[in-house]
Amino acid sequence: MMAMIEKDLIGVGFGPSNLAFAIALAENQAGGRLNSCFIERSPSFSWHSGMLIERSKVQISFLKDLATLRDPTSRFTFVNYLHATGRLQSFINLKQANPSRAEFTNYFRWAAAAFEDRCCYGETVESVEPVSRNGRVARLLVTSVGSDGERRRRMASDLVVGVGGRPYVPPAFEAVGRSRIAHASQYMTRARPMMDATTKPMRVAVVGGGQSGAEIFRDIAERWPHVDVSLVLRDHALRPADDSPFVNEAFDPSFVDLLQGLSGERRKALLNSLRNTNYSVVDLDLIEQIYGLLYERRFAGASACRLLTRRNVEAVREVDGAVEIETRDVATDERGGERFDLVILATGYRYDAHERILANLASDLGGFEVDRFYRVKTPPSYASRIYLQGCNEDSHGLSDTLLSILPLRASEIVDDLLSREHYPMATAM
Ligand SMILES: Cc1cc2nc3c(=O)[nH]c(=O)nc-3n(C[C@H](O)[C@H](O)[C@H](O)COP(=O)(O)OP(=O)(O)OC[C@H]3O[C@@H](n4cnc5c(N)ncnc54)[C@H](O)[C@@H]3O)c2cc1C
Repeated sequence: MMAMIEKDLIGVGFGPSNLAFAIALAENQAGGRLNSCFIERSPSFSWHSGMLIERSKVQISFLKDLATLRDPTSRFTFVNYLHATGRLQSFINLKQANPSRAEFTNYFRWAAAAFEDRCCYGETVESVEPVSRNGRVARLLVTSVGSDGERRRRMASDLVVGVGGRPYVPPAFEAVGRSRIAHASQYMTRARPMMDATTKPMRVAVVGGGQSGAEIFRDIAERWPHVDVSLVLRDHALRPADDSPFVNEAFDPSFVDLLQGLSGERRKALLNSLRNTNYSVVDLDLIEQIYGLLYERRFAGASACRLLTRRNVEAVREVDGAVEIETRDVATDERGGERFDLVILATGYRYDAHERILANLASDLGGFEVDRFYRVKTPPSYASRIYLQGCNEDSHGLSDTLLSILPLRASEIVDDLLSREHYPMATAM
């Protein structure tokens, strides 16, 4: 029988959140001495690889990387990555604050490579159980399943969960066979190959008027002349994301403190007033590109791509090997039905995956509510600490699911973690 692997700390997921955390931990004198590991589902580091469309850009300044906000002298800054890979001078000449998504992925991979020795790739964490001794929970049993189907069990004192979003499929689409439906997160891996595989006319619907829907719509319209593509959205028009400077301050670290000082209702109202920074909105330059593209097509007498605006999807069914979408015009109530060979759902993500992973602890953890430092509120019997990253938008603001404040959030968690009495290397310093 294999001996149980014992760790001080286990990170669940190894996306940008836990990568920034691993860096902050490693760069902390005491934190660097903790015995930690990170368990990641993907076979190697990846960052939304299903949406790695050529020309797509990061929607954030390169200075909001994995380390700069916490420590600009860290070796894990984007600038140091550019220097190390011989592209610093050329990047300066580009005069752009927003790198391509492909380059930011490369940067993340470069940083992740430094943690290869403590990363367990290709394992999905299934469950966490409290290990109780004398009525006290000081260890957590983490069970994962590898791509080979084998179960692995590890024990940890503390846990940092950063598992990102779960692709959201609206209920109306749930009954439709998966062969004709793909989520935006599978665009490069499933949808593109389906359109590549045929030169016969094909009708595709992209549902959702946010950034991902618009990027996919443009990509299809430019790439395949045999594909007739429709962008189906509820709004009257594609709307620009507000990234003006004053509004952008909602992504500053200080905004977290502001929100934390408000009652639930006031928080909600403030967050609602800022939704047009991130939800159902599109970068203005992409809107302009799409408008130009539709104009050119109309001018040339070709109409293979169009926007179906103000359409609420009412019902979806499979008919004669196609997906029929019934819509209602939200202004006129007029109903219509269209058939498509493929539907791509750019319908966003839900940030509740931690609830399933931590289900065995749910009765102890109440509503998975976290404190200011992202620590889940636990009963007094818990010595173990559990931190959640990326699912606290309601309490910590819009930056929580984004890259905006990753390094600072990471160092706040590291500081809180190291205040534990059972890490003597930290308290002795
Ligand atoms: C297409 C796209 C583009 C984006 N672009 C930007 C941008 O430009 N700027 C910005 O600020 N934000 C952007 N975002 C928001 C995005 O959420 C963040 O960029 C970032 O990915 C958050 O990092 P994360 O580590 O919290 O989550 P993720 O990046 O989702 O990483 C979570 C990791 O956990 C792993 N995982 C999940 N479940 C398990 C499990 N049970 N066991 C083990 N591992 C698990 C996943 O495989 C994944 O690697 C974008 C999002 C999308 C979808």
